[in-house]
Formats: sequence, structure tokens, C-alpha cells
Amino acid sequence: MRLGERTPLIFIDIPPAGEANGSATDTVMLYGHLDKQPEMTGWREGLGPWTPVLEGDKLYGRGGADDGYALFASLTAINAVRKDRLPHARCVILIEACEESGSYDLPAYVEHLATRIGELSLVICLDSGCANYDQLWSTTSLRGLVMGNLEVSLLNEGVHSGDGTGVIAASERVARSLLDRLEDSQTGAIKLPELKAEIPKPRLLQAERAAAVLGDRVFNTFPLKTGVSPLTRNNVELILNRTWRPGSRSPAPTAGPRSAMPATCCARSRSSSFPSVSAARRRPGRRRRRQAHARSRSAIRRQSHVQQCWGERGLGRAGAGAMARAVPR
Ligand SMILES: [Zn+2]
Repeated sequence: MRLGERTPLIFIDIPPAGEANGSATDTVMLYGHLDKQPEMTGWREGLGPWTPVLEGDKLYGRGGADDGYALFASLTAINAVRKDRLPHARCVILIEACEESGSYDLPAYVEHLATRIGELSLVICLDSGCANYDQLWSTTSLRGLVMGNLEVSLLNEGVHSGDGTGVIAASERVARSLLDRLEDSQTGAIKLPELKAEIPKPRLLQAERAAAVLGDRVFNTFPLKTGVSPLTRNNVELILNRTWRPGSRSPAPTAGPRSAMPATCCARSRSSSFPSVSAARRRPGRRRRRQAHARSRSAIRRQSHVQQCWGERGLGRAGAGAMARAVPR
């Protein structure tokens, strides 16, 4: 069905079969979505979002995961029950097409279908992952997301960095110290007690059982760069970290899917120093870093710095470009 210009929705109403154990008025909802995550970047050579590739028993391409299975799994499960001539309650299957964009069309459909859906006894949400294909997994917890933008402004207008550095605090440093109030920058632990939940005992036991089954697969299925290790080698802690404990997901990607954990975070640093500071006094490592740093500093001066600083002083884009060219390389 489709309400006006909204994304479409699939609604299937399956009457009860046999003599169900519960009340005859019980209704089970099976929910899923059929829209796909964005095509993403970082595909391995030879793979891509628009060219499906079968490698062994794995299919690579956009939409190979999340959440194409929901409709088929729902119908297959109900069919399996019916094939064995077992009773089941009334089932409604609801498959939306807006989930990856924030489900903004879903409330309108739920409202529109309220009388046809009826009173629900159980909602089964088929939109999660499994840790392996050897067991049947069920998701027992879901975390929400609190998102905000932090803007630090210390000046009414930009000034030349040679003028202001050392006099006015760098706004980035203020941002770092503010973020440190939320999160321990050494350990990643969230400091706000308001964001922490008490972990129920059964969930602790389940985390232990899951860690015993999975071992290092808890972390080694992630595409870690050489030399990168997980936050801890205790797999129970890792499972609890990613399920029951709050964690900072910053930096939030400014483009692309909000749920993505970017592979790279890029920041350019600039520090001023005095020419008489002797390079010979520095340790070799620091010297190399300083050489790289000097190169990036001059690159900044040639490019964005000149455009920003001089552009703001009224030279405009063309003037800033001329300044950028005039700065010797
Ligand atoms: Zn999904």
C-alpha cells in the first residue's frame, strides 16, 4: 500500500490456524524493512554496490544484508508451523520502506492501519544480526542514540592565527576539554552516570555464554588494520560494551549513513614555533614529525589558511587565490 507520496509499505494479515494456546484474540506482529543502507565506500577490489558477486557461498553487493530477509523469514516460519499442523495465533507482517531514513513514514501507516492491526500481544522485530550461523540467535537489548552538535565560538570574527595564537584559546582545544566531560579520552568510558543502565544478571550470564561460544570472533571479524587491537581482550567485556554500556560514536559522519563507523578520522594540526628553536636538540622522531608538520603547515598557508584569513579580510575569493599563488612553495 502507499499513502500519498510516502514510501510504500507491505501489510500481510494471516488468520490464526488450529487451536492456539493463547486467547483467540492474540495477534503477533512480525516487523521488518525492505529499504537498503546506502551503497557505502571501501569495497574491496572487484566488489561494488551495483555489481553482485558470488564468492563461495557469500553474495557481495548492496542489499546483501539488512534487511532483505525479514519478509521471507516471516512467511517461512509461519509456513513451517502450518506444515507441521501446529496451531498459531493471528499474525500480521509489516514491512516498511523507510527505516534507513529514520522511519518517518511508519507512524502514519501504523495509525492508518490501527484498526486492521488490532491489539498486539507480541512484536517480533526481524532487523538484527547473528554472531554465527551455527546457533539460533535472538537480540535481547537495543541501545538508542543521543546526538548533538557541539559548536565552540570564542571570537566575533576570525583573526590571523599569528596574531591570536597564545592569546586566545584554540576553539578545538575547548571542544576537546568539553568532550572530555562526557567521555574519558584515554579509555572511551562514558562519564555521565545518567547514560548508564544497570545490567540485569541474566544478561551478564548470556554475555558470558556468548563469549564462550564466539571466542575472539567477538572482535576479529572487524576489518582491523595491522597493529590495532580491541579495547580489551576480555570478550565478555567487549560484548557488554557493545550492548549494555553507553559508548561515544563520535565523530559522527557529516555525510553518508548516520549509523556508519568511519574507517578514518582526519584532523590537521598546526602549532607555531620560533625559528631559533634548534632542530638538533630534538629527538630524531620529533625531528621527522616536525619536518612533516612544517610541510603540512606550509600547505595550509598556501591553501585554506590564506583563503580563510585573507578572504575574511575582504580580498574575496579571487584575491585569496592570488595570495595563495604568491606564497612561495
Ligand atoms: Zn535494518
